[in-house]
Amino acid sequence: MTEAQVETKQFQAETRKVLDIVINSLYTERDIFVRELVSNAADALEKFRHQSLIEKVEFDAHVPLEITIDCDDKAHTLTLTDTGIGMTKEELETNLGTIAHSGSQHFFEHLAEAAKKDVNLIGQFGVGFYSAFMAAKNVRVQTRSFSGEEGFEWASDGGGTYTISSCPGLHRGTKIILELKDDAQTYASKFTIERIIQQYSTFVPFPVKVEGKLVNTVQAIWTRSKAEITEEEYTEFYKFIGNAGDEPLYRLHFSADAPLAINALVYVPKENFEVLGMGRMQPGVNLYCQKVLIDQHSENILPEWLRFLKGVVDSEDLPLNISRQSLQDNALVIKLRKVLAKRFIKFLGEEAERDADKYLEFWKTFGIFIKEGVTSDFEHRGDLGKLLRFESSASEPGKMISLDEYVGRMKDGQDKIYYINGPSRGAVEYGPYVEMFKKRGVEIFYTLEPIDDFVLNHLGEYSGKKLVSADRADLHLPESTESNVDAGTKESGEPLEAEALQQLCAWMKEILGERIAEVKASSRLVESPAMIVNVDGYMTSSMERLLKASGQSEAFGMGMKKDMELNAASPLIKKLAVLRASDASFAGDLVEQLYANAMIQAGLLVDSMEMVQRNYRILERAAGE
Ligand code: ADP
Ligand code: MG
Repeated sequence: MTEAQVETKQFQAETRKVLDIVINSLYTERDIFVRELVSNAADALEKFRHQSLIEKVEFDAHVPLEITIDCDDKAHTLTLTDTGIGMTKEELETNLGTIAHSGSQHFFEHLAEAAKKDVNLIGQFGVGFYSAFMAAKNVRVQTRSFSGEEGFEWASDGGGTYTISSCPGLHRGTKIILELKDDAQTYASKFTIERIIQQYSTFVPFPVKVEGKLVNTVQAIWTRSKAEITEEEYTEFYKFIGNAGDEPLYRLHFSADAPLAINALVYVPKENFEVLGMGRMQPGVNLYCQKVLIDQHSENILPEWLRFLKGVVDSEDLPLNISRQSLQDNALVIKLRKVLAKRFIKFLGEEAERDADKYLEFWKTFGIFIKEGVTSDFEHRGDLGKLLRFESSASEPGKMISLDEYVGRMKDGQDKIYYINGPSRGAVEYGPYVEMFKKRGVEIFYTLEPIDDFVLNHLGEYSGKKLVSADRADLHLPESTESNVDAGTKESGEPLEAEALQQLCAWMKEILGERIAEVKASSRLVESPAMIVNVDGYMTSSMERLLKASGQSEAFGMGMKKDMELNAASPLIKKLAVLRASDASFAGDLVEQLYANAMIQAGLLVDSMEMVQRNYRILERAAGE
């Protein structure tokens, strides 16, 4: 081949970084590069098998689907060959020169961190191919697409560039030739390679031959009966299908004949890669039909919020030659999705009952997906309520309970489930909203994540009981059964009389103007002098905060209406009523400060500079004139 036919290209900057991490920080567990390359070969074979069911492939149609591995300990090379779908020149450049999911800023930090912690994680990052450079000083990829277009060779030493040149006369598929590093000669030994294949790749659904000898038994574990499968096999299969190094948290293997023939084996991993800053996860369940892979990482087979699951779903009812495009609105697939989601939700419910602590572990890692399900999946919303967990006034700090537990403890005459949002349990417990709940012994959920109010708002009700935020204006708590004391009377002496209170309210409303719809007497404050409540039925302060932060508050203008409630028994309020007559200007400062404090307790923003100035005026008075 002449020089002129060789094109030299730069790796995308992100790819160079990945290469750098792979080459410089990964010394242990090098073996996994074999797994990554075999898994790519298997993917390519699956893609070809499915493609050939959709269209008639003329070129090289007779070539059997398999992976062959050759070791040459004289030339110091390891060669992996597959007869899969192959790559065109263009595909070579995009697939092996750029990185698909490198969007997030944190990607590389996490990759480097993960790589140090456990090299096994590298496959999860969609950069498995580059692990070849852990063992090779030079990698050549010769490939020919199933379309029959002439082949090309990609070559690189893992530095900043790679070359592409034409490579005529290839069969369909891809050959990867690794020129091994001096300290990686063991990979030129067939014994090493056989051992690694047996360790990592036993589930590859195509024959893998090392030096001509078949080293795996091709099997579809999910179609076998549960009783025959060992724990080890299940775990190994999880590692294979999830490209994972850890062990799964949960496993669900089930078969059904009606309404559809289904064999499904799905796993919940231990880690949530989405919260690790890696951006949105790809779905992890593959769709098979009679053991033929139809749709890898299928977006259609489960609702989006179940994208954290790994595994396989196989249904004989699907037509084998269905194209990936037509899966989306295929009636059978839609039905399948419904059955699977229902079954998995039921499974989680059972697991939660069987081992509540383990379920809480699941909830801490994956609860965010269940919440997403409540807000986005109308069909399963009702069932998902059972799976939610929050802290409550009756739970130990850090311990979360279910809506069922709450409902089971509800007081006589209580027909609503209450919740209040706050940044932490401490902040909520110090706030004004829970005072009357404490006093009357009514349990209240503490929703400590910003998104929680949206979730409960979408859920609307549970077990026939409305879900209500405690910062609503029209809250009517069940009467106390122990003693029928009214707000504040015992603790703080006589409340301000009705008329004086009314005048105070009217005057405060004048000062606060449009910021407040109404200032009025509270029937539920015990200690605090004042609080902000939301007039609109569905809007809570926490939701308002989120909408403001995302710049969407304008659209919800009507929902922002709030009242300020006053505690008529509070000494401060009583004194304020007097002060108003003697020093209206200073009393006005106090009104502003009361409002600011109440807003802060509602988690809402106030002008802090103005508040500091006012605060100095108040402090000056307090220090004595
Ligand atoms: P991932 O497998 O997670 O996509 P990799 O870094 O392992 O990431 O591979 C990148 C891409 O290169 C693959 O998605 C595939 O398109 C392509 N590729 C790698 N190996 C092969 C192969 N043997 N045959 C065909 N395509 C391949
Ligand atoms: Mg891969």
